[in-house]
Amino acid sequence: MSIIFEQVSEEETGSVEPIIRVRNLTKVFGHDPEKALELYRAGRSKQEIFEETGSTVALIDISFEVSRGEIFVLMGLSGSGKSTLLRCINRIIEPTAGEIWIDGKDIVRIDNDELREIRRRKLGMIFQNFALLPHRTVLDNVAFGLEIQGVPVEERHSKARDMLQMVGLGGYEESMPDELSGGMKQRVGLARALTSDPDILLMDEAFSALDPLIRRDMQDELLELQQRLGKTIIFVTHDLDEALKLGDRIALMKDGAIVQIGTPEGILNSPENEYVEKFVADVDLTRVLTAGDVMRRPEPVAQWTAGPRVALHLMEEHDISCIFVVSRQRILRGRVTLDDTVEAVKRGKQLGDILITDVPKVTTTTPLSDIISLVVENPYPVAVVDDAGRLVGSISRGAILAALARKGVDTNATA
Ligand code: ADP
Ligand code: MG
Repeated sequence: MSIIFEQVSEEETGSVEPIIRVRNLTKVFGHDPEKALELYRAGRSKQEIFEETGSTVALIDISFEVSRGEIFVLMGLSGSGKSTLLRCINRIIEPTAGEIWIDGKDIVRIDNDELREIRRRKLGMIFQNFALLPHRTVLDNVAFGLEIQGVPVEERHSKARDMLQMVGLGGYEESMPDELSGGMKQRVGLARALTSDPDILLMDEAFSALDPLIRRDMQDELLELQQRLGKTIIFVTHDLDEALKLGDRIALMKDGAIVQIGTPEGILNSPENEYVEKFVADVDLTRVLTAGDVMRRPEPVAQWTAGPRVALHLMEEHDISCIFVVSRQRILRGRVTLDDTVEAVKRGKQLGDILITDVPKVTTTTPLSDIISLVVENPYPVAVVDDAGRLVGSISRGAILAALARKGVDTNATA
C-alpha cells in the first residue's frame, strides 16, 4: 500500500500564514448588480432590492482569512449566503467583485486552465446530498476525480482503496451507493474528496442530512482526520452546536454579511451585537466550557513531605474539610480529610496512612458536561491535572454553578 499523505510537521500546522484570503467579496445574482449595489448602499433591504431589480444581493463586502490547518466554520440561517460564499472559493459561482487569494494567487483573476489546476490540486468539495454517481461502485465513485484527471486505473483504484480504509469503509469497494446508509454515503463523499490530497476541503452542510448520533460520529471522525492530515477545512453549517464543536473559528453570517468572526468561546462570551447574542442564547454551555474555564487555583495544597500537622494547620486556617496532597513537583498524590488528619496527628500517623489516592481527576480540556456528574457525586472538589499529572486546578460545585450562572463567563476565572 502506498503512503498517500506526508507527515504534517509542527511547523506547518503551527503556521499562521493564511492559506485563503478573501477581500471585499461581493456577489449579486441577477442582471443588474450595479443598480442592486447602489440600492444596497442607499440602505435598502435585500427584499426591497429584489422587488425593485429582480437581483439578489447574496454576499456583501466579505473579508476574512483562513490559516493553514484551520477549521473555519461559516454559520448562519438559511439564505444568509453560506453556500454562495463557499462556491465562490472554488469559483463554481463567479464573484461580482472582490478578491480570493489561495496560496498567494487571486483565483478570481486567473484563466480557466489555472483555475482547473487549482481546483484539482488544492480544493476538495463535499456536499450535503452526497452527490454520488448511482451506477458506479463505491470504489469507482471514490476514484472518479482521479479518473477525470486521466490517472491509470490501477493507481486510482489503489488510492481509492486507501481512502476507503481511512474513512472506515474498507470492504465496501464493490457496493453500490444505494446499498449504503446516509453516514456511509457521506464517508464515500469524504473519501472521494480526499483522493486527490487537496490542501483545502470545502464542506457544505456535509452532515446536516444525517441522524443526530451518526452526525456526531462523523463530526468526531472529521476532527480526528483533520488532526492526522492537517487539512484546511471550510465547513458550512446552520447548526450552532456543530459550529462550536468543529470550528477553530466561526464566522456568523446574516443577510450576506459577516456579523462576527471569532473562536467558539469568543462568540459565546462576547457576542458583538444583539443578533449574535440571540443566535447563541440557547446553546448548551456545558458542552462548550471546559475544566480549564471554571477551575480555581487549588489553594492551599499540602506537601507530601510536610506531614499531617502542616496539613491540619492549613485546613484549619482556610476553614476547609479536605486538602489535596502533592509531591515536590506538584504531582497529585491524593487528598486527606480533616477528620482523618486530626486522628493521624493524635495517633502519630503519617500522611501516607490516611491518603485517599482514588480522587476524581480531569484535565483542563475535559468538557463541563463530563464533569458535572463527578462533582455532583463527590462531596469534595474534583482535581484538574495536566498531562504530567501535576495539579493545576480544582473544581467545586460552586465554581460550576457560578460559571453557568454568569453569561459572560470570565474564561480566566482561575483565581
Ligand atoms: P445559504 O447557503 O446560507 O442558505 P445561499 O448562499 O444558498 O444561502 O443563498 C444566499 C442568497 O442568494 C439567498 O437569498 C438565495 O435565495 C440567493 N441565491 C442563491 N443561489 C442563487 C441563484 N443561483 N440565483 C439567484 N439567487 C440565488
Ligand atoms: Mg446553503
